[in-house]
Amino acid sequence: MTARRPLARPAERTDFQILREKMAQGLEAAGIQDRRLLSAIRKLPRHAFVPEPLWSQAYQNATLPIGFKQTMTQPLTVAVMLQALKLGGSERVLEIGTGSGYQAALLALLAQAVFSVERIAELAREAQSRLREIGIINVTIKNFDGTYGWSEYAPYDAIVVSATAPAAVPRPLIEQLAPGGRMAIPLARQGHEEICLVTRMTDGIDIRPVSRCTFVPLVGRFGYTAG
Ligand code: SAH
Repeated sequence: MTARRPLARPAERTDFQILREKMAQGLEAAGIQDRRLLSAIRKLPRHAFVPEPLWSQAYQNATLPIGFKQTMTQPLTVAVMLQALKLGGSERVLEIGTGSGYQAALLALLAQAVFSVERIAELAREAQSRLREIGIINVTIKNFDGTYGWSEYAPYDAIVVSATAPAAVPRPLIEQLAPGGRMAIPLARQGHEEICLVTRMTDGIDIRPVSRCTFVPLVGRFGYTAG
């Protein structure tokens, strides 16, 4: 077995803690109020989700490259999406677009069980082993086209999509949302992208815009064509 470099040496650990605290304070100043979410953000080593040369940038409010032309979503955008889901701790959550696994790790601390789908096999594999390494056991990752959702574990109390869908919410995701369930999804609308909050009602869905955003495209059967 090859020895892995520890996630931080003792002195660095303190530095990362300071940077993490600053990041959490920045998020609070930007309007994030969910106490459980803020405490999960204060706890998780975000740098462990990016390649080592980027560790020093991991606590800035920026997107970071994770390979395969994909990016890790910026912390404020992740926080806005997760706050909109109003998680209490007992939920079963579906995430589309695992990417680095950082948002899945936050969800693991905020809900009961997390199912996450990633279309790039290597990212799915890396994220699963990264989560295991930091001791997170309630996230299950599958390499698949997430525009189909993951029917095996449906219905979900909450769904979060980390890539922009073209105009319409993929139908399987609506079908797999429990009645009263909430979904945060970026949609392309009239020339811009917007995070929307979708609530499943007894007689259909309610869609409300939350804030403007920029994501990588959701590529798949009910999303954009790969190219
Ligand atoms: N929350 C992640 C975001 C990663 S970027 C993080 O913070 O790291 C979005 C991810 O969505 C990319 O990894 C991309 O490969 C993935 N993706 C795009 N379309 C997808 C689809 N149809 N199904 C599953 N994953 C998809």
